[in-house]
Order: sequence, then C-alpha cells, then structure tokens
Amino acid sequence: MANRLEGKVAVITGGASGIGESTARLFVQHGAKVIIADVQDKLGQTVCNNIGSPEVISYVHCDVTSDSDVQNAVDMAVSKYGKLDIMFGNAAITGKGDPTILATEYEDFRRVFDVNVFGVFSCAKHAARVMMPAKKGSIIFTSSVASVTYGDIPHAYVASKTAVVGFTKNLCIELGKHGIRVNCISPFGVATPMLMNGLKITEKEKVVEFVHEIANLKGAISETNDVAEAALFLGSDESKYVSGQNLVIDGGYSLTNISLSEGLKKLHS
Ligand code: NAD
Repeated sequence: MANRLEGKVAVITGGASGIGESTARLFVQHGAKVIIADVQDKLGQTVCNNIGSPEVISYVHCDVTSDSDVQNAVDMAVSKYGKLDIMFGNAAITGKGDPTILATEYEDFRRVFDVNVFGVFSCAKHAARVMMPAKKGSIIFTSSVASVTYGDIPHAYVASKTAVVGFTKNLCIELGKHGIRVNCISPFGVATPMLMNGLKITEKEKVVEFVHEIANLKGAISETNDVAEAALFLGSDESKYVSGQNLVIDGGYSLTNISLSEGLKKLHS
C-alpha cells in the first residue's frame, strides 16, 4: 500500500544516517513531508537532496541535547507545513563503550544520558506542545534490544535505552487524553555507523555477518529498513489504537536463553 503517510508532517532526529535516514526515505515515499534534524549538517543536507525536493524534505541543524534546537526543529515543521503529526526521536550515541562499571567514566555516562534521554525528553515536550491543540499525533522513540536483553553492552547505553521505554509508557498515559500516541521501537543489531563504531569494525560486511551469526532468526538480515517499516506503521493511521508499546524488532533474539543452550551443549559433549 503506497502513501500511508499522505498529508502527514514528520520530524526525524538522527535522520542524516542509518535508521533515521532509511525512515526519512520511506516516509517521503509514503507521502509525508519530512524534516531531518541532526548534527551532521553536510551529510544531512546531502541525504535530503538525494531523497527529494526541498518542498518535501529539508534539513535543520539540531543537537538534541539543546532544548532550543529541538524547539526550533518543531517550530520549523509548523511554520513550513502548519503542523506536526509525527515526532521520531531517534538520535542517540553509545558513549565510549566500555561495558565494565569501573572503566565507565562519569562524564561519558552523563553525555549518553544527555543525548539519549534528555534528547527524547525535549523531542516529546516540543512535539506535545504543538500536537496537544491538534488533539492528535504520534511520538516514536528509538530504544534498543538493549532495553530487553542485558550484558556485554555499555551500562550507560543500556540504562539510557531502558529509560526511553519507561518514558514512552508514562508519556502514553498522560498524552492519551490528548489523542497522542507514544511508542518506541527496539531494534536488534543493524550495520550502521553506530554499530560499526561500537564494534570497532570498519567493514560493513563483517558487521552484517556478525549480527547474522548471533541472531535467532536465520535467513534474513537485520536492516535499517526493517526499523523504518516499524516507524512507518507507528506513524501511520494503521496503528491508530497502538500506544505505549515497545516494538522489539529482533527476530526473537531477546527471547533466547543462550546460557542454557551453551550449558546443554557442554553437558552433552
Ligand atoms: P547512526 O550512527 O547511523 O545514526 C545516528 C544519528 O544520530 C547520526 O546521524 C548522528 O549524527 C545523530 N546524532 C548523534 N548525536 C546527536 C545529537 N546530539 N543531536 C542530533 N543528532 C545526533 O546510528 P543508527 O544505528 O541509525 O542509530 C539510530 C538509533 O537506533 C539510535 O537511537 C540507536 O541507539 C538505535 N539502535 C541502533 C542499533 C544498531 O545496531 N544500529 C540497535 C539498536 C538501537
């Protein structure tokens, strides 16, 4: 079905790369007007040029740790298109990435929360400001599979992404009476610059192979577009009664019990 977002206006933070970029492309394909809000200005502008004309997609510099930058991105949507239907708070960082508590630096932990948690707070606040009078809207955040499965992932990242889920659920209660839905998406590993940097691997193919190797679902590759499709559903009216969900896109990975599998293998070897 085409044009599932016809007439809708969306702001996508972190839209210059990876999941955000794929979502921007898919949203425009489905008839939405999109504003990409990111800190990678040159890349963001190039992505917009590649996706469509300035009438349907434009870029704004927006550091989500700056409340006024987020305010500006939302105000730009309203001044350009008269409204905001979808806020996709997707920008995030992993931090320096040490998974041990003793090596985790206080400032790094703080920085991760600034981007990943305070960032979505500003997105929600400014989106709600313009969605409440309209009595409708869809707020979507990107959490992570790290919100439902734990270990070997940096504490700051896990704590921040788990906070996003709690925030989603609490916000869904408050904003329900205003006709606004709030959901988050939790992707599995996807070979984007974020994951490649996190794994310290520069070849995309190797990252894809690694993710497939550890995945539960075989014969399919976890891709940015899989997450974009989930955002499309949550942004469209097809999900008009879906709110407060953490939509996990992990091919069942978070339901596995690796230590039991490994233990059984050892027991019978
Ligand atoms: P990515 O690095 O390709 O994209 C992240 C984007 O966020 C970049 O364009 C970056 O410039 C932007 N960004 C970073 N800090 C920002 C800030 N302060 N203000 C505005 N923009 C900022 O990574 P991605 O994998 O596409 O990540 C998108 C989302 O998906 C993130 O929330 C991430 O945590 C989540 N996620 C990714 C994976 C994965 O394996 N790639 C898995 C689970 C969740």
